[in-house]
Amino acid sequence: MTARPTLVVVGAGHVAAAAARGLRRRGFDGRVIVLGDEPTGPYQRPMLSKERLTSATEDGLWLLDAPWCAANDVEVRTDSRVERIAADTGEVLLFDGSAVRADLVLVATGGQARQLPGVGGARVHHVRTLADTDRLRERLQPGRRIGVLGGGFLGTEVAAAARSRGADVVVVDRDPVLLSRVLGADIGAAVMGLHRDNGVELALGQPVQDVRVGPDGVHLSVGATTEVVDDLVVCIGIEPDMAVALRSGLRVSNGIDVDAQGRTSLPTVFAAGDVAAHDHPRYGRVRVEHVDVAQQQAAAIAATIAGRPTTFDGPHWFWTDQYDVNLQGLGLSDIRPSDVVVTRGDVAGLDGSLFWLRHGVVVAAAAIDRGEDVMAARELIDLAAPVDPEQLRDDTTDLDELVETLADAMYDEEVVV
Ligand SMILES: Cc1cc2nc3c(=O)[nH]c(=O)nc-3n(C[C@H](O)[C@H](O)[C@H](O)COP(=O)(O)OP(=O)(O)OC[C@H]3O[C@@H](n4cnc5c(N)ncnc54)[C@H](O)[C@@H]3O)c2cc1C
Repeated sequence: MTARPTLVVVGAGHVAAAAARGLRRRGFDGRVIVLGDEPTGPYQRPMLSKERLTSATEDGLWLLDAPWCAANDVEVRTDSRVERIAADTGEVLLFDGSAVRADLVLVATGGQARQLPGVGGARVHHVRTLADTDRLRERLQPGRRIGVLGGGFLGTEVAAAARSRGADVVVVDRDPVLLSRVLGADIGAAVMGLHRDNGVELALGQPVQDVRVGPDGVHLSVGATTEVVDDLVVCIGIEPDMAVALRSGLRVSNGIDVDAQGRTSLPTVFAAGDVAAHDHPRYGRVRVEHVDVAQQQAAAIAATIAGRPTTFDGPHWFWTDQYDVNLQGLGLSDIRPSDVVVTRGDVAGLDGSLFWLRHGVVVAAAAIDRGEDVMAARELIDLAAPVDPEQLRDDTTDLDELVETLADAMYDEEVVV
């Protein structure tokens, strides 16, 4: 490696921004070049189905502004689509024919919205890029009927945004309960009530047999009925964007395979974020599509590159905002049918939480409008000490005190030993 090494990040998203900031914070004095194929620098992707979908706001949108980049010698090149990494010559090759010298590369190409084969045109939308959102927002108007295919995080957020702009909305999903696969049936049922109360129609529990785009709208055949909508928003997940990795000879599975410190099968190449299937010390090989995970992985890689090898080993955390309700999940990558689930508070009334316990130890949590319960869960997961489920269930138990008591008891034990 040269005296002043160059790190090239492929993909200008959350990983790129967190890596650039993390490298400079940790004193990395090499060059940092971010190559992104979008026309802008990195932005807050979660805003695309929330604030930016309800209004054209730029508040809090940009992750790396020009003054910060100038002050920190970080170069962001937009409209720069990478073809592949040539590890043998130490270069990153772009589709425009140019090449960038790189001692180290971080692949952060994220994912692409999954498409419905053969279904496209002006009435069909996806929500992955700023351009997607700005196009869709114009269609969310009073008097228009919007179909949302998929009742997961993205679909429910889009439904909430569409309602807040006054459009009529129908959500279609083969699952009978919204969000239940990720947050459990109880929270899912509460979220369904929330959407119904806000005027969303729900066509759940039956698969869509056919989608036809006509001059009068999009026709969705669901069971015996046909839903006709002006626009259809397809929210059926993403495909990790592994094109650069495949062309560069990196080992992949359901993402780019990386070890616990983010290293790929090539020694000078790292990968992180939505595209990376990482070796998590607790959960094994897993690919996660959440901002916090992307940022934590990037921060760990930055620390490693700056000379302090670091493993991202925390529980996976995410949030979603729908109307004025906040939902959070922690450690849900790992829940098992045999785990004991403890309910706290009033989940149906949109003010409660769930804790998953294994051998009496909290391993995961989810909450509606109770961020503080999830914060306590994080400490309980870290402590890995058995908890009395009744204490957890009892809404008068102060969770911070419970954490303190358990931590003190563990400390006493350590001292005695
Ligand atoms: C609408 C929406 C809402 C979300 N809401 C939440 C939320 O509420 N909470 C949460 O935890 N997570 C949320 N997420 C997920 C979160 O945004 C992702 O986990 C995060 O963006 C992953 O960061 P990343 O850097 O891996 O990828 P991205 O942020 O997707 O960045 C990847 C970038 O690489 C670029 N790229 C791809 N190929 C190339 C190439 N060949 N050359 C150059 N550039 C390339 C892409 O165009 C893209 O700009 C949401 C995602 C979306 C789409």
